[in-house]
Amino acid sequence: MSFDRDRGLNVEENLLFEKGTNGACGVDLPEPKNTALRTGFPAREKIGLPEVSEPQVMRHFVRLSKLNYAIDTGLYPLGSCTMKHNPRLNEKVARHPGFAQIHPLQPEGTIQGALEVIYTVQQWLAKLSGLPHVTLNPAAGAHGEFAGIMVIHKAHEARGKVRKTVLIPDSAHGTNPATAAACGYETRTIPSTKEGTVDVDAFKNMLNDDVAALMLTNPNTCGLFEPRAKEIADVLHKAGAYFYCDGANFNALVGRVRPADFGVDVMHFNLHKTFSTPHGGGGPGCGPIAVTEELAPYLPVPKIVKHGDHYHLVTEDKNSIGRLKGFNGQFGMAVRALSYMMSHGADGLRQVAEDAVLGANYILSQLRELYHVPFPGTCMHECLLTDKLQKDKDVTTGDIAKTLIEYGIHPMTVYFPLVVQGAMLIEPTETETKASLDHFIAVMKMIAQKAAAGDSAELKNNPISSPRKRLDEVRAARNPVLKWASQG
Ligand SMILES: *Cc1c(COP(=O)(O)O)cnc(C)c1O
Repeated sequence: MSFDRDRGLNVEENLLFEKGTNGACGVDLPEPKNTALRTGFPAREKIGLPEVSEPQVMRHFVRLSKLNYAIDTGLYPLGSCTMKHNPRLNEKVARHPGFAQIHPLQPEGTIQGALEVIYTVQQWLAKLSGLPHVTLNPAAGAHGEFAGIMVIHKAHEARGKVRKTVLIPDSAHGTNPATAAACGYETRTIPSTKEGTVDVDAFKNMLNDDVAALMLTNPNTCGLFEPRAKEIADVLHKAGAYFYCDGANFNALVGRVRPADFGVDVMHFNLHKTFSTPHGGGGPGCGPIAVTEELAPYLPVPKIVKHGDHYHLVTEDKNSIGRLKGFNGQFGMAVRALSYMMSHGADGLRQVAEDAVLGANYILSQLRELYHVPFPGTCMHECLLTDKLQKDKDVTTGDIAKTLIEYGIHPMTVYFPLVVQGAMLIEPTETETKASLDHFIAVMKMIAQKAAAGDSAELKNNPISSPRKRLDEVRAARNPVLKWASQG
């Protein structure tokens, strides 16, 4: 057995799986030895399953799992994504047989506890947002946006005039314009000021009676609170349009600010960002929306209503935008979120927001001398830096991110928001210790010092000890190999 840096220690096991079983590699498949298994089936071809022991299988997958980087491994400061710790308590509660082994087709009388969980999460979200009506049906943040904009569309329809435009600031997440377009709207982009917030004068000039809604992320994707949000809401409402808040950054506000108080009509939450449910590679997730009294009739079905002590599912409603999801959405996420909410309590959730904002500002204050900070003042739950000071020395945001990998830290979000050149968006989340933030800061300082000293060769070559090295981007662009696995 030999050590291969790319593959790890167990080279033989690696070959066993990667070559022995994969016809695409051009290696002869081993003869399946278990004839007893085959006699029962009229197998037309040998399927070539390898004969391996349980320890071999276990080692193979454990070795692969060690190549993964997760919040369980270290700091994961991916801005805009809120990569939070998923408390083990959530998982324990979600696996309780009373939750895990029920079926959505069971009679309503036998799933009262599950309906109560969903209903209770709705109530918590209503309280935290200040918006009285909530649905947990959407399966992700973007799906929540879709639900929210469809609700707004229905409301305009009910008023008798369909409007065609949705306004979206240029710093928005790509899902906002995609959602508006998917709902049939034309989108118009509101510019940002040099302070990184909405240019309110430009917004006012763009507003007319064809505007259905504004989609605003608050705090925005530059990590800044929109200080004129209430004024924006008032102007919108006067023009007969609705205020949609992308609440993906609610982790910075939870327990401190209720979006309804700055005039929001509809907002979505990402349970996987603010309420610690797993991100899960795009799903299955949950992106609830909360709406005003006026918009409540249009919420998707099924809706849960409470009669006395009984929870009842309403599946037909002529005003509703209809059904978004099979059954009642991702129930397991509701259980996890409720576990998080109840174990933190109202004061604990407020502290989440405070600690998230404190951590981001600590990083900002420690790095502001060495990195260019595009916007003045303090930040919310994530801080934004750029590579402007390093660029003279030929060191870019990409080099900085890849050097973090070399030092065992997951990079921050890079080159987003698009409105800021060479952006590095750093979101530490509230559960990081000061020691962990200090380690990140020390590595970032070291990188800046190396760049300043003209030591760019190493930075441009990193990472050198990770399983995958840097791609030769020029060669990849000029001579792309568009096959998922090439031979030889
Ligand atoms: C994450 C995010 C979204 C999309 O949420 P998903 O759950 O990934 O669909 C939308 N807007 C902002 C600002 C986000 O950060």
